[in-house]
Amino acid sequence: MSEPVRPLPTRRAALGLIGAAAVTGGLASCAAPDSRAPKTEAPTTAESSAHVPTTPAPVAPTFERDYTLPPIDGGLVPVITRVTTKNPIVFLTIDDGVTKKPEAIELLRKYNYPVSMFLTKNFVQEDPEYFRQLMRTGDFVENHTVSHDVRMSTKPYAYQFAEIKGMQDFAQTTFGRRPTLFRPPGGAYSPTMRKACADAGIRAIIHWETKSNAGHMDYQYGNSLRAGDIVLMHFRPEFAADLEAFRAAQLAAGLTVVNLERFLGVE
Ligand SMILES: [Zn+2]
Repeated sequence: MSEPVRPLPTRRAALGLIGAAAVTGGLASCAAPDSRAPKTEAPTTAESSAHVPTTPAPVAPTFERDYTLPPIDGGLVPVITRVTTKNPIVFLTIDDGVTKKPEAIELLRKYNYPVSMFLTKNFVQEDPEYFRQLMRTGDFVENHTVSHDVRMSTKPYAYQFAEIKGMQDFAQTTFGRRPTLFRPPGGAYSPTMRKACADAGIRAIIHWETKSNAGHMDYQYGNSLRAGDIVLMHFRPEFAADLEAFRAAQLAAGLTVVNLERFLGVE
C-alpha cells in the first residue's frame, strides 16, 4: 500500500518534506526544527536584532508522505487537482508574476508559508530577483509558460511544447532549477498539452479546486479548506487581501501549509 516513512535523518530533510508553517504560528525565533524548547527570544549576535533575519527554520509537525504522484502514463503527465492525504495539510500556489510588491515577500515570510510559484517568463524576466528572494526561503519556481496564452491547449503540439520548454529553459538559466510542475494558463488542458509537458520534463499538471481571489476564498466544493487542497493565488495588487483570506481559512480549518514539491517528491 503506502511506502514506509523514512526517518528524516538530517535537519535539511526535516526542513524539506515537512518544511511547514506551524498552524499556530509564532514560532519564528526557533532555529531547531525538532526543538521542544520554550519559544524565547534569544538573539545570537549583537547585531542580529537590528535587521530582518533570514528565513527562520520552522518547527514543523512531521507528516507522513501518504500520497504517491501517479506516473507518466502513455506519454501523458497526470493532472492533479487535489492531493489525497490524511494529513492536516494544505498547499499554496501563486501564479503569473505580473505584480511584484515587496509586501508579498514580507507576508509570506511573516507567516512562514512555503509556496510553489507558477511563473510566466514574459511576466518575470525583467525582474527575476524578486522571485529569487522568495526562492531563497526554500520555495520553488514552476512552469506557467512563456507567454500565458490561455488558448494554448487548442493549438498544435509544437506550439505548446515551445511554450513549455521555453519556460523550462528560462527557469533553469535564471533560477537554477528545471521546473517539475506545470499549470496551464487559464486552466484549460488537453492530451496534447499533457504530452508536451511530459516531453519537456514536467512530472504533473497542477490544477486546483480552491482559490483566493479578490480578497475572498472560492471553493468548488464545500465552504472551507480541506486537507490536501491546492490553493491558487496570483501575484496581484490585492495579494495582501488574498493572503489574509487564505490565512483565515487555513487557521479555521486547522491545516498546516507544506511545500507541494516536497510532499510530491518532485523537488
Ligand atoms: Zn496565469
